[in-house]
Amino acid sequence: MITFNKPYFTGKETEYIKEAVKSLKISGDGDFTKKCHAFFEKKYGFKKVLLTTSCTDALEMAAILLDIKEGDEVIAPSYTFVSTVNAFVLRGAKIVFADSGEKNPNINIDSIEALITTKTKVILPVHYAGIACDMDAIMALADKYNLFVVEDAAQAVDSYYKNKPLGSFGHLAAFSFHETKNVISGEGGMLVINEEKFIKRAEIIREKGTNRSAFFRGEVDKYGWVDIGSSFLPSDILAAFLYAQLENIEDIQNKRKYIWNKYKLGFQDLETKGILRLPQIPEYATNNAHMFYIICEDLESRSNLIKHLSESKIYAVFHYLSLHKSSYYKDKYVGPELPFSDLYSDCLVRLPFYYELNDSDIEKVINTICQYFLSKR
Ligand SMILES: *Cc1c(COP(=O)(O)O)cnc(C)c1O
Repeated sequence: MITFNKPYFTGKETEYIKEAVKSLKISGDGDFTKKCHAFFEKKYGFKKVLLTTSCTDALEMAAILLDIKEGDEVIAPSYTFVSTVNAFVLRGAKIVFADSGEKNPNINIDSIEALITTKTKVILPVHYAGIACDMDAIMALADKYNLFVVEDAAQAVDSYYKNKPLGSFGHLAAFSFHETKNVISGEGGMLVINEEKFIKRAEIIREKGTNRSAFFRGEVDKYGWVDIGSSFLPSDILAAFLYAQLENIEDIQNKRKYIWNKYKLGFQDLETKGILRLPQIPEYATNNAHMFYIICEDLESRSNLIKHLSESKIYAVFHYLSLHKSSYYKDKYVGPELPFSDLYSDCLVRLPFYYELNDSDIEKVINTICQYFLSKR
């Protein structure tokens, strides 16, 4: 049986967790949290990072930080995970859904400008599969209309746009360390703050609306309730787990890229024959090998393929039903059809993808899919 995902452990996780436990400081912002923060700020040059308990939490912090209020409009792709937009809906925002592009599921850049109104406050690009959106174009629109940009970089750790790390473009960015991502802590996330003026308030929002972080640094002599907030910081036990992963990020990324390239090569023939479409990496983007997907001809063809794979003991999955058609949002949605969002909802399949997927597993997946399609012609 080849599962869809298998969390990878570097081996050091339990050792570091023991260290954290022995330090008798297992609440938030202990030594391992500090190590993780330093890692991201140093390696990727992020101005300021704060670990959170999830990417969802980081997005919720972003919505609070940007003072999102009833009636504010947020432009986001419809083809994304619920949390991308739910975080803003919680503050009363109206989501203005954009279509995906023709070449990949990222937001269609050319469609954004027409969606901007006097109420628009935020553009929310999602770097789908860790592949960069065209950030120059998005930041230019944000400048022109005085908007904020929050990158949903949940899948985009260690990925770049024109040699600059994703997560460093928007005013804010959110990463995920959920067990299905490249580096993990079970549940976990991180808010990146690229604007000096948001840093202090971000710390307060993360600490239940108190200035406790400044108190622990000795900047104030007592702490108290100074703003709204919640409990967004993870236990140092989770940070200990994450740190073991971060120490091995090069190895993890190299292995994932190896698997990705094998898949890509294995399906080239099917793509040339026009049987399916493979991911394309734009010139300006790197590939962080977060996932490997193929795009089938239509919904029926995808359903049949997933069924065939499952009968062959290979677990492939589809995901993201266009959010503008979700049961929660469909009655509120007033915009046009979003054909590419629907196309990816219907036709995209994610193949098994994890560190320990070995050559024979990869070959089995490739051969099963190639034989399946070629035998039907
Ligand atoms: C995984 C994911 C999230 C949510 O991350 P959590 O850490 O589980 O909250 C949000 N957006 C995208 C695009 C994701 O892939």
